[in-house]
Amino acid sequence: MPPHLLDHSLADLEARMREWGEPPFRARQIARWALRRCATSFEEMTDLPAALRPRLAAEWTLAPPPVLAETRADDGATSKVLLDLGGGAAIEAVRMDYDPDRPEHAQGSRARSTICVSTQAGCAMACVFCATGQQGFTRNLTAGEILAQVLHFQRERPISNVVFMGMGEPLANYDPTLASVRWLIDRDGLDLRARGVTISTVGLPGAIRRLAGEGLQIGLTVSLHAPDDELRRQLIPTAGGVTLDELTEASNDYVERTGRRVTYAYALLERLNDEPEQARRLASRIRGTRCHVNLIPYNPTAGEGLRRPSLSRVRAFQRELQAAGVNATVRIERGVEIAAACGQLRTDHLAASAR
Ligand code: SAH
Repeated sequence: MPPHLLDHSLADLEARMREWGEPPFRARQIARWALRRCATSFEEMTDLPAALRPRLAAEWTLAPPPVLAETRADDGATSKVLLDLGGGAAIEAVRMDYDPDRPEHAQGSRARSTICVSTQAGCAMACVFCATGQQGFTRNLTAGEILAQVLHFQRERPISNVVFMGMGEPLANYDPTLASVRWLIDRDGLDLRARGVTISTVGLPGAIRRLAGEGLQIGLTVSLHAPDDELRRQLIPTAGGVTLDELTEASNDYVERTGRRVTYAYALLERLNDEPEQARRLASRIRGTRCHVNLIPYNPTAGEGLRRPSLSRVRAFQRELQAAGVNATVRIERGVEIAAACGQLRTDHLAASAR
């Protein structure tokens, strides 16, 4: 199978058009077909010269990855798809529609449709509370494979937001992740607002600094999960050498250079990291910086001995942060019953049962 067209940047495609003696604007024309109109073949691109279409098809593909399974929840407002990337690699992506008229969706006041994409098949970070982390790493995705997840849903109806919060660690697959972001926000790509795109990272300080220099207005979420390095190393065994100080410094650097505030994700695990005293220590690390904490009550996975705190413990933790002057919200869960919520994406057993 030839490589996916969208593995290439717009500049690459323009260079190729020039080489072929075509005007460079063809690249934008093709991109609009591929993204805005969700074309799945070059044959559909009827305003291209007839001789160019087979030439494109010989070089690249736009074929969507086969769907192995699709499940819905919340009256269809949450939808999860399992895509086959070939060679034994499969990934999941989730769509979440927010309707301001449905109180259970209440998060902001505008209607939106958010796609949660995977950047790797599996993950190498091994977080003890995450199903993907427990599954292990298979391989990195290409930009085209990341975008194929968005296009799968865009084909049904237009989407407005993309969060890089599915399987894998986006900043450990930096170039394809950034290439896909550029296609999402390019005027001739999907033309989404940069502010509607968010990358979530387990916390790779070097990559966070690099991202800060890209000149993009996208959102950044950094997964902290602990108020001290010792506990963080237990929860994220691969955090190894990275300290919380290094992480918050890199995050502050992102804020300074982009003007955007950073979000800290904190998965709440009963009696492990949800004590009020831990909230106070977390607050003292980040108070006074332009940030916001998003608390994610633990969603059940195979993780042994891990429990979700009661709502009153969650609220107590949130109040402690707020009292210390740190903005904190609780993430509203979606898709728990179809294992589509944060930390529940895994494909080893699913892929096997779908075949
Ligand atoms: N690797 C990136 C992208 C994954 S985003 C990252 O770590 O940020 C998924 C978010 O859900 C992360 O903040 C992750 O820590 C959190 N998460 C993982 N497992 C979870 C679980 N079982 N319950 C709640 N949140 C979880």
